[in-house]
Amino acid sequence: MQYDYDLFVIGAGSGGVRASRMASQLGAKVAVAEDLYLGGTCVNVGCVPKKLFVYGSHVSEEIEAAAGFGWNIDQVEFNWPTLRDNKTKEIQRLNGIYKNILSGAGVELIEGRAVIKDAHTVVVAGREFSAERILVAVGGWPKVPDIPGAEHIISSNEAFYLEDFPKRVMVLGGGYIAVEFAGIFNGLGAQTQLIYRGPMFLRGFDEEVRAHVKTEMSQKGINLRFNINIVSVSKLDSGELEVKLTDGTKSIVDCVMAATGRTPKTEGLGLENTAAVIDKRGCIEVNDSYQSAEPSVYAVGDVIGRMELTPVALAEGMALVRHLYADVPINVDYDNIATAVFSQPNIATVGLTEERACEVYPQLAIYTSSFKHMKHTLSGLQERTFMKLIVDRVSDRVIGCHMVGSDAGEIIQGIAIAMKAGATKAHFDQTIGIHPTAAEEFVTMREATRLIG
Ligand SMILES: Cc1cc2nc3c(=O)[nH]c(=O)nc-3n(C[C@H](O)[C@H](O)[C@H](O)COP(=O)(O)OP(=O)(O)OC[C@H]3O[C@@H](n4cnc5c(N)ncnc54)[C@H](O)[C@@H]3O)c2cc1C
Repeated sequence: MQYDYDLFVIGAGSGGVRASRMASQLGAKVAVAEDLYLGGTCVNVGCVPKKLFVYGSHVSEEIEAAAGFGWNIDQVEFNWPTLRDNKTKEIQRLNGIYKNILSGAGVELIEGRAVIKDAHTVVVAGREFSAERILVAVGGWPKVPDIPGAEHIISSNEAFYLEDFPKRVMVLGGGYIAVEFAGIFNGLGAQTQLIYRGPMFLRGFDEEVRAHVKTEMSQKGINLRFNINIVSVSKLDSGELEVKLTDGTKSIVDCVMAATGRTPKTEGLGLENTAAVIDKRGCIEVNDSYQSAEPSVYAVGDVIGRMELTPVALAEGMALVRHLYADVPINVDYDNIATAVFSQPNIATVGLTEERACEVYPQLAIYTSSFKHMKHTLSGLQERTFMKLIVDRVSDRVIGCHMVGSDAGEIIQGIAIAMKAGATKAHFDQTIGIHPTAAEEFVTMREATRLIG
């Protein structure tokens, strides 16, 4: 049977671009369909613009710290359209780079929404394409709570393009996106509250990390409100939003942003025309080779709901096409994947939390350190850095490493390599630190804070 393509990829996001480019380089005839933006969520409404906004909002702290270092900054003014539009220009530049990457690799880009017609056929804007294999890399889409006045609630997608910068913001949610946006809005000068229905945000992170971040965010002026939810939102004649909360109170704000989860973008994709199975979260079920129940249909990235992170989507896309077109066994290792939250201060983590480690290992040593970063001895800021190592006392292996503090992601990335290589606490102790840095604390923690088991 002759097909138009060896591989038809749906979605030119993190996973889709990497998979299509590599498959083409390995000799496959590849097309990729994209209906919104090149580069997907990460480049357009995710990691990249978010990090640019985090940098932008953190400038306010640098300005606050400046006086202690002898700088007299008389007039300080923040201009939202400048930040927003500079960010958009950078995204457009990246979109162009993605286009060139695809064409340079010989991948055909087909613009429009793709619908799967059958196991080997995809339809885009009325045109039919046949392919030996179809790769679904459609990512996800933000969910907004289904409550009266939901039309007044924005998601992270819109937060990147706000016409006016709001004076008062309510962020809903307890995950990393909510925490990051609360920090962004607060740093840029909005009166910010974070509303979370549970008792504590950042579920799944180490308890001490969560507690430390809670203290720091509160100290920076964010109003953290737990065990509370919103009931409704209504727009007043003044244009302000009145939010009713479950404790019976009302709050008047200019912007309500929900970061209450994301849904895989499988609706209307035509998967029902194949044997592929969608689970109750809306994710496509795949086996260890990213193959769905329909043998010619594969899926990677957020749409399979394993770990919704860009580097994971990239790794899955790469592993799949190497497997299909170079006969390399699938080798994605989901253990010890380091992650960061670009809250202010940053969080970064690799390996197990203390709570999880206690379930798995009988004897643990926990090393913790909480200290004022050298910078803040003069900055006047009260921010404290927190570091934690979790060690299996039987093997001496470091099985968890956590940090809350400036550049945590940059520091933990290196430690993740050491942990992948099986580093023990003795290896950490034998490592001579770089002085003066905050990171050296990770190799100078000698006394366990507590022993478990
Ligand atoms: C606010 C925010 C911040 C984030 N920050 C980070 C971070 O700091 N670090 C990190 O690692 N991850 C972060 N992520 C997660 C990261 O963006 C995703 O894990 C990653 O983009 C997933 O890649 P993907 O290839 O699965 O999907 P996506 O990148 O979402 O790409 C899917 C693409 O498919 C297209 N598409 C969908 N349906 C169709 C169709 N039917 N036809 C044609 N095209 C279609 C979409 O338009 C999109 O371009 C963040 C996400 C958000 C929302």
